[in-house]
Amino acid sequence: MKYKAPRGTQDVLPVESWKWQRVESVFRETAARFGYEEIRTPVFEETELFARGIGDTTDIVSKEMYTFEDRKGRSLTLRPEGTASVVRAFVQHGMGRGARVTKLRYFCPMFRYERPQAGRYRQFWQWGLEALGSSNPAIDAEIIHFSVSFFAGLGIRNTGAKLNSAGCPTCTPDYNELLRRELAPKLGEFCQDCQTRYERNPRRMFDCKNPHCQELLDGAPSILDALCDECRDHFAAVRAHLDAIGVPYTLDPKMARGLDYYTKTIFEIHYEKLGAQNALCGGGRYDGLVEELGGASTPACGVSSGVERLVMALEEEGAFGENAPAPDVYLVAGEGDCASSNVELAARLRERFAVEMDYQGRSLNKQMQEAGKLGARFVVVNNGPGGPLRVRESGAGWEVEATLESVADVIAARMAE
Ligand code: AMP
Repeated sequence: MKYKAPRGTQDVLPVESWKWQRVESVFRETAARFGYEEIRTPVFEETELFARGIGDTTDIVSKEMYTFEDRKGRSLTLRPEGTASVVRAFVQHGMGRGARVTKLRYFCPMFRYERPQAGRYRQFWQWGLEALGSSNPAIDAEIIHFSVSFFAGLGIRNTGAKLNSAGCPTCTPDYNELLRRELAPKLGEFCQDCQTRYERNPRRMFDCKNPHCQELLDGAPSILDALCDECRDHFAAVRAHLDAIGVPYTLDPKMARGLDYYTKTIFEIHYEKLGAQNALCGGGRYDGLVEELGGASTPACGVSSGVERLVMALEEEGAFGENAPAPDVYLVAGEGDCASSNVELAARLRERFAVEMDYQGRSLNKQMQEAGKLGARFVVVNNGPGGPLRVRESGAGWEVEATLESVADVIAARMAE
């Protein structure tokens, strides 16, 4: 085999793509109920947008971006996440003018040069929400509630959020200093990456995957004890809203998100049965990002989530059931010379139903088997010009005759019973 999909990418074939369509349609319905409208941004942006927006010290920017020069030498990057692009569009199109909160959703591919493994890919899809223009803790609770409701709507129940605060520019400098002071005596025992993180952004050490580093961090001071009054009150209000809505959560003071822009609320939802890569979604508040990217000061909050992992979790839950969507009608060419009249019949029936038919001149038996395999609800047997059509409902013992004129109404009437 000469060509293969590049490492870390995958094809979503028809045996799977119907599951993706289900996820996407439930996403669209849920987002509509919560009032989030769709935005579609380009797959690539100026590299600077991500460097600035996500943060130079993050793994995403320092190790994982697909960056290239175009023919005019401009540095462009395939989008590794959605928020920076959405904020860029929000600023560029002046979407923040007017009093409303701007609530946006997306569902699109992302690109990160990571080591591929189950649940981690180089091209992967994310759904996400961004709400721009309000610091109200109701928004944070709404976004967490959305995530839990969306997963529940698809069939993953009993997910709870892990909740933490990232603080704000008022309280984090003191907290970073406190953390450095506490960790300084053991610094030499941390991995090389953590030693760099210690200098540049010590909270990022909590994100380290190395179990020894995690052990060394046990007992480190919690950011939740170091919040300024404003962050503390905001966090308490988010929790009160979640309690009122009935969204379960646990506090996780060691949670650090892999992106620099977060302030105040941060959260993740995990699905433990997925193993190492078990974060279904993550998000939080990013009150400084719009200004950082050249817009007016605009508080905001969002979430993003990997679709491949979600599909895997739903498979694990048995949430899709056994069967792919089936055609309503399978059109069988019978004994007579009917292959060409089936073309006309299919065209008529397709105005109202999903119709499959034979294109290979197979025997009546083979066509019947195919209809069964596809799970078609109705089989219509055409025995040639002039003769009646036999309409049969699979597994129901229901069979009638119809003409070319009446067949669609006969099927529709049976469906409506
Ligand atoms: P992040 O943008 O890193 O906060 O990731 C948000 C969500 O996207 C994660 O919780 C995962 O579900 C998903 N995700 C992140 N990176 C990958 C990847 N390389 N492959 C598949 N899913 C990913």
